[in-house]
Amino acid sequence: MHIERIAVDESVGRVMPPGLFVEALSNSDAPVELVDEGEAFGPGDAVVSFGHRDAFVEADWVHCVRAGYDEFPVDAYEAAGTALTNSTGVHGTTVGETVVAYMLTLARRLHAYRDAQRDREWDLPRYKEPFTLDGERVCVVGLGTLGRGVADRAAALGMEVVGVRRSGDPVENVSTVFTPDRFHEAIADARFVVLAMPLTEETAGMVDAPAFEAMREDAYLVNVARGPVVDEDDLVAALDRGDIAGAALDVFAEEPLSAESPLWNFDEVLVTPHVSAATGKYHEDIAALVRENVEKTAAGDPLTNRVV
Ligand code: NAD
Repeated sequence: MHIERIAVDESVGRVMPPGLFVEALSNSDAPVELVDEGEAFGPGDAVVSFGHRDAFVEADWVHCVRAGYDEFPVDAYEAAGTALTNSTGVHGTTVGETVVAYMLTLARRLHAYRDAQRDREWDLPRYKEPFTLDGERVCVVGLGTLGRGVADRAAALGMEVVGVRRSGDPVENVSTVFTPDRFHEAIADARFVVLAMPLTEETAGMVDAPAFEAMREDAYLVNVARGPVVDEDDLVAALDRGDIAGAALDVFAEEPLSAESPLWNFDEVLVTPHVSAATGKYHEDIAALVRENVEKTAAGDPLTNRVV
């Protein structure tokens, strides 16, 4: 594969200013161009994009600026012999810090004080409401970049970290690793259940009514993975019934979350607009990954983060 042009699709604007990203890529070995819908691609082209367009499969290589590539038709890329790479590996710190922030907010009740501040109310918590993360158990489902970013930070705060991993192999800072077939057992004793796995056929709808029944009544669900891994109707029902205490949700079955969604209404639910990985230096992180792979194509080395 010989890359003659890096075409940056305008869709990258969903997560970073395209101009900054093009500038960050400008010292690559190939010329960089901003393109939009209607652009044609062919051999020698590398495309960097947020989402998929059918024309991309004509290029040599397509890089997705997200870790989750579930919206890309992987089979079509494979059939066309077009390399597809993703951006896993760069979100451990950002999402790790956000998840710790959700847990601290919920435990230390910051969301309740902020709500009261809007009404200029000096609102004290009920005596038993505030708690510390220190000593609480968190179950991290998916122990890749995101999951380890969460596990390391949670362990540093004195939390007991358990997790779910397909292989069941040990992971640093995780005291017990369960395999997915023991998912309900893994989440049963956790005060926080953090979802950090990809959306796949296996994980779609994995967090449903029986999972909420398995969770503690004082547990919080944190979803930074993808919306469809949770059955949202079952989640709303579980929150209504008090099967769980609350949630912190960054991702939803449909985004943006509809103004009609009941999820906006719960005091114990934090809603963030798919921003747990947001940072003002995202363009630099992704540019470094793309540059590294451009160099690898020149050297004939296997691409980092290759999906197909
Ligand atoms: P990763 O590939 O580094 O890690 C994912 C891990 O989940 C892998 O170790 C994989 O083996 C594991 N896994 C797969 N199926 C599983 C299952 N059934 N049970 C338990 N573990 C399972 O990816 P990552 O960078 O950590 O990202 C994970 C996902 O998080 C992405 O696919 C994406 O959908 C989502 N994500 C969201 C944001 C955000 O802004 N909210 C940012 C980055 C990633």
